[in-house]
Amino acid sequence: MTGAARPRPGAASAGRRRILGRCALAALALMLTAGCEAPPQLHQRQLYTFGTLVEVSLWGVEAGLAERAFEALAGEFDYMNEAWHAWRPGTLGTFNERCATGEPFAGDPGVLELVRLGTALSERSSGLFNPAIGRLVALWGFHADLPEPRAPPAAAIAELVAAAPAMTDIHIDDGTVRCANTAVRLDFGAFAKGYGVDRAMERLRALGIDNAVINAGGDLRAIGRRDGRPWRIGVRHPRAPGALARLEVAGDESVFTSGDYERHFEWQDTRYHHIIDPRTGWPSRGATAATVVHADATTADAAATALMVAGAGAWPAVAARLGVTEALVITADLAAEMTPAMERRLKFVAEPAAVRVLAPPDPGPAR
Ligand code: ADP
Ligand code: MG
Repeated sequence: MTGAARPRPGAASAGRRRILGRCALAALALMLTAGCEAPPQLHQRQLYTFGTLVEVSLWGVEAGLAERAFEALAGEFDYMNEAWHAWRPGTLGTFNERCATGEPFAGDPGVLELVRLGTALSERSSGLFNPAIGRLVALWGFHADLPEPRAPPAAAIAELVAAAPAMTDIHIDDGTVRCANTAVRLDFGAFAKGYGVDRAMERLRALGIDNAVINAGGDLRAIGRRDGRPWRIGVRHPRAPGALARLEVAGDESVFTSGDYERHFEWQDTRYHHIIDPRTGWPSRGATAATVVHADATTADAAATALMVAGAGAWPAVAARLGVTEALVITADLAAEMTPAMERRLKFVAEPAAVRVLAPPDPGPAR
């Protein structure tokens, strides 16, 4: 019976009304988002500092504010690049020249701020992170845009190790500085990027920006969220193109990685890279890469360098003293060692040779 199969006229019109009603609501919602309030926008700008491109991403701010923020950060980054460059003439170069005389001098306030932070972090890392070893870094040829591929004479390395330059050799008395060890030469390369990112983030917050990422060549700090979702971050594979792992960051977190693949050269079939073990004076041997997640970028950057120097197995004790609970260290044979907190959030996209979860030891009494 065809008639019975036909829908009742009243029921059909009620269905149409419901559909029409839904369409009208959807159209209204569309009009509201399109017409009354502009949808949140992602604004991005690439700036340059510390020898690397810095990508700044701002979420949910209007174009005028984004432009003001980019201009403010460009100024900050230019200043930092000049002031803390490890080998070009500039503020830090002048500081180092005066330090090498052993005589008192008036220290630049910006450099002194980094000296104070660097001294505390160096002590907590038991000297594995040591920004006073600039002479060793220079001896290895890394104070040049292109290092010469050769190892320096062993005697010259041993001499600098014996001189034992340390951050605690820099005495500060109300802005007047004296270096008690003339072998001290500051090189902020292992944490200036982190400190710069922290400063830049403070600038953004002062402008009222709450959702942003400052990504300096893969090392970054993220605040807030992107469209209500966490920011997705890739951890670079140390020996292959692309990512080794992924993690999501939200709220306020920094992710910094140090690796032997960054600045390095091959000489007589051996890789020599830019992270120097202050105990030996030679490029560190115990790890291929170290990634740290921490609230502030200054600590994350310094800690990644320190864990890289500490190397496989030994890094958890150093992480604990630095207050770092989330760390991943890739060993020389490409095994992944990590803290339990890092294991909970990291997703590997390439398979490491092995995975070991190492609980950090009790850091002991605060020093
Ligand atoms: P990247 O610059 O690739 O992010 P790091 O943050 O580890 O890597 O910084 C490495 C730089 O830090 C080196 O180029 C050098 O200038 C400096 N450096 C090397 N070894 C040490 C160390 N043990 N402690 C502090 N600074 C170091
Ligand atoms: Mg570092």
